[in-house]
Amino acid sequence: MENIAKGDSLQKLKGLKITSLDDDDEEQEQDTIPDEYDDDDDDDDEEEEEEQEPVTLGFLEKPKNSRSLLRHLFPSKTGGTPAWLDPVNLPSGRSCLCDICGEPLQFLLQVYAPISEKDSTFHRTLFVFMCPSMRCLLRDQHEQWKRPPESPSRSVKVFRCQLPRSNPFYSSEPPKSDGTDKPSGPGVALCNWCGTWKGDKVCSSCRRAHYCSQKHQVMHWRTGHKIECQQLCLSDQSFDTNPSNGGTSATERQKGYLSVVVAKMSSYMNQTLTYKLLAYALVASKSIWPEYEMINEDESEYDTEMSEDNGDTNTLISKTGTDDTMKSLLSNFEGDDDRKSWASFQERIGKAPEQILRYCRSTSAKPLWPMSSGRPSKADIPKCSYCGGPRCFEFQILPQLLYYFDVKNDVDSLDWASIVVYTCEDSCEASVSYKEEFVWVQQSSTIVNVP
Ligand SMILES: [Zn+2]
Ligand SMILES: [Zn+2]
Ligand SMILES: [Zn+2]
Ligand SMILES: [Zn+2]
Repeated sequence: MENIAKGDSLQKLKGLKITSLDDDDEEQEQDTIPDEYDDDDDDDDEEEEEEQEPVTLGFLEKPKNSRSLLRHLFPSKTGGTPAWLDPVNLPSGRSCLCDICGEPLQFLLQVYAPISEKDSTFHRTLFVFMCPSMRCLLRDQHEQWKRPPESPSRSVKVFRCQLPRSNPFYSSEPPKSDGTDKPSGPGVALCNWCGTWKGDKVCSSCRRAHYCSQKHQVMHWRTGHKIECQQLCLSDQSFDTNPSNGGTSATERQKGYLSVVVAKMSSYMNQTLTYKLLAYALVASKSIWPEYEMINEDESEYDTEMSEDNGDTNTLISKTGTDDTMKSLLSNFEGDDDRKSWASFQERIGKAPEQILRYCRSTSAKPLWPMSSGRPSKADIPKCSYCGGPRCFEFQILPQLLYYFDVKNDVDSLDWASIVVYTCEDSCEASVSYKEEFVWVQQSSTIVNVP
């Protein structure tokens, strides 16, 4: 039963996300989802909620294998390193940093969300990054209210990347997902520490290790590259001293022979080291969040399931764990509005408590706010900085994700009530490959009021 359910959800993911590559029939099916939903059983909820747009929920599963989340399979995923859609023209400069502490941002999640109506959005992925420091997130809370011409200093950032069907990086045919798929072109070298950002700085000794920042170079040096680097340099030197046209005397010939052996050995060592460096030093940092595959399901399916039996067998988080978050969040509330808002939020989330993401890209879609306070007004959502057009809600990230990331429930630990992503309604083109969109973070009220 469990397997069937999982198989189903996998089918759905492929159905929802990648069919646009296949044929028009399925696209149409996709388009009809809203109508099916509206006719059904959302009558009961209507007193509390305005009209509901159909929402797609994101759930997490351990990746099937090491290949299943690579970029040419167009994954939706959390943690680990980003599967950059455009693997060459990555965000650079200040975009990659927390504006508050200046540290490189950490990869939170990515959502593959193509828009079938336009060729330019045939492939489309949104990437969310944040600073793991709660102090920065609390500062960010005040910054996000700033309106142009003031520019807010953010510790959470989201980027939109899109590609037409015909592009230099991927086949125009859908991936077979049988292990034979390959990207068409290579990507740029990534930072050996975080595996996230472009590694455009090179270790000056070995010239093999790449870094996004001096900070990450220092971290890598301290945690093992110091030794690794010496070995790499040593093997390079043996290459240099290798006499190419041997000596004449026996001893010199002997020396020559020895150096050839040493050179051969070190060449082998060199390769292994380089390989090691590339293979696992790419994620040398132990602080990156654990990697999961995101599986999608329609929220409407949970309406019918839940009415029959509450037994949900594929729970990854224990019920008690979820209840604890709920309680700790609830205890933070002050006003009645927040309590009321929380009650309806909890009721809706309760249908599928393990959801970590709610997706609904539509001009009329609204996020499901856990609290009434700390919500942006329309004017707080800035216009698209590339086309000047309006932005609309696209998805929200729930704090349940922190359970999967093993973030502790301490005072200083990272926490949020909801992270809401707004993107250009037109999903416009721009000269830059990764377009920064807008993100709003709602915290539970007492946390924000801490001076
Ligand atoms: Zn920071
Ligand atoms: Zn880095
Ligand atoms: Zn080095
Ligand atoms: Zn735009």
